[in-house]
Amino acid sequence: MGMPISGRRVFVLHLVGVTSALAAGRAVATGPVSTEKLTEADAYARSMGFRLDTTKVDKKRFPRHTPEQKCSTCQLYSGAPNADWGPCSFFGGRLVHKDGWCRNFKVKGAA
Ligand code: SF4
Repeated sequence: MGMPISGRRVFVLHLVGVTSALAAGRAVATGPVSTEKLTEADAYARSMGFRLDTTKVDKKRFPRHTPEQKCSTCQLYSGAPNADWGPCSFFGGRLVHKDGWCRNFKVKGAA
């Protein structure tokens, strides 16, 4: 004996709601995840002095920058050890190059 059409429809709608809630819950649990690469042309990245290559940072604008400072040694970078690109939490999880840099650099392990 089947469910009346209207009852089945309510059940399906309910299922869709539960699935979306689960998907949303997962996104909150892992933080923002992006496959988008941050570019030097991005307006906010420019305001932060972001460069894909730390050796290209403007020395006059950022006199305290050193070439040892790079995304792969920054607290906000969570890329895999062998990956060239990894998420930066400061830029909403967008991918930054491991050799990149921005003025928000904070060395790993620093308070
Ligand atoms: S906050 Fe850190 S990881 Fe993110 S772009 Fe700046 S230096 Fe790189």
